[in-house]
Amino acid sequence: QQHMGDQRVAVIGLGRFGSSLARELMRRGWDVLGIDESERLVQRHSDFLTHSAVADCTDPEVLRQLGVHDFSSAVVAIGSDVEASILVTTNLLEFDIPNVWAKAISRQHGQILERLGAHHVVLPEHEMGERVAHLVTGRMLDFIEFDDDYALVKTVAPEIATGVPLGVSAVRSKYGVTVVGIKRPGQGFTYATAETVIEAGDVIVVTGKTAAVEAFAELS
Ligand code: ADP
Repeated sequence: QQHMGDQRVAVIGLGRFGSSLARELMRRGWDVLGIDESERLVQRHSDFLTHSAVADCTDPEVLRQLGVHDFSSAVVAIGSDVEASILVTTNLLEFDIPNVWAKAISRQHGQILERLGAHHVVLPEHEMGERVAHLVTGRMLDFIEFDDDYALVKTVAPEIATGVPLGVSAVRSKYGVTVVGIKRPGQGFTYATAETVIEAGDVIVVTGKTAAVEAFAELS
């Protein structure tokens, strides 16, 4: 939907991260050009990709021949070879591709990619590690933290919020969180209103400042 309807992405590196990403993009109806220097990997993934190529993307000429300079989105899914990741990211930025995403394997690697000018840097292992920590230590069933210290959490409803309509329990003014969705056992999610009464055992989706959401999810 972004960039004048251009729904094409170049994914460079078809390891575990790149191939999962490419598969999901295809599932969402995007066109994906997948590139890896490993012929074996390209062969393994080519049947589900729109286009694929075996190439060393540290060479800008190679990228140009593949038409990558015309893309408005590209992802550098190279992690362990930090030098290759830096060179490929530099090539994409030289092409003025407006949406360059890059995966980093360490904070330092991520900082370098950001200094180069990569528009989005992801640290999948660090981010997933932090996320799983929230799930391991509490009753949260899912946890997503956005920038600016704001989070969305799926959790078993604390008893303190049950039995009275949300408008009466005043969860928002008392705990600084907003209940946005509710799921009764065996049913799907529905949105929450001021009239919604949460029952013990319900699963809820809550948003708010990270600290507030964390504290709320730990209440019993
Ligand atoms: P993951 O952890 O997601 O498997 P890796 O860093 O191990 O990530 O894999 C990165 C992929 O990128 C590998 O398949 C590798 O062959 C590919 N790759 C590395 N350097 C280049 C390059 N210069 N050009 C194209 N592909 C590359």
